[in-house]
Amino acid sequence: MATCVFCRIISGEAPASFVLQDATCVAFMDIQPITRGHVLVVPRMHALRLAELDTATVAHLAIEVSRVARSLGRSGIRCEGLNVLLADGEAAGQEVPHVHWHVIPRFRGDGFGFRSGPGYTSLPPRAELDRVADELRPLI
Ligand SMILES: [Zn+2]
Repeated sequence: MATCVFCRIISGEAPASFVLQDATCVAFMDIQPITRGHVLVVPRMHALRLAELDTATVAHLAIEVSRVARSLGRSGIRCEGLNVLLADGEAAGQEVPHVHWHVIPRFRGDGFGFRSGPGYTSLPPRAELDRVADELRPLI
C-alpha cells in the first residue's frame, strides 16, 4: 500500500471526488477547500517536486489546469477570479509530498490572500534584476 495520500487516491485505495482522470493526471476536490470549488490537479506519477516532472507531463498538466479553470468559470460556483498555485517544497507551503496544482476560485471578500516579506515594497535596481537573470539564464 502506498504511503503517499495522493498515490492512494490515484490507485483507488483512498476516496476522492474526481473532476477528471486521464492517463497522465487526475483532478479532484480539495478536502479542505479555501473556497468552494477548490480543485487539485495531480500527476499520476509520484513526484515530490515540480522539477522532477518531464516537460511533456508539465505541459499536459497545464492544459488540464486550464480546463479545470474554464469549468469553474462556466459553473454556478462563485468564481470572480482564480488562483492557480503550486506550493513547491515545504518552505513554499507544500503539505502533501506529491506535486500538485491548486485551482482556487476567488471572489471579493473571500478572506484568502498572500503576504509579502518586509523588503517587498522596495524595488531592486535594474542591475540587481540583471544579475539574477544572468545567474538563471544558463541554467534554464
Ligand atoms: Zn504520491
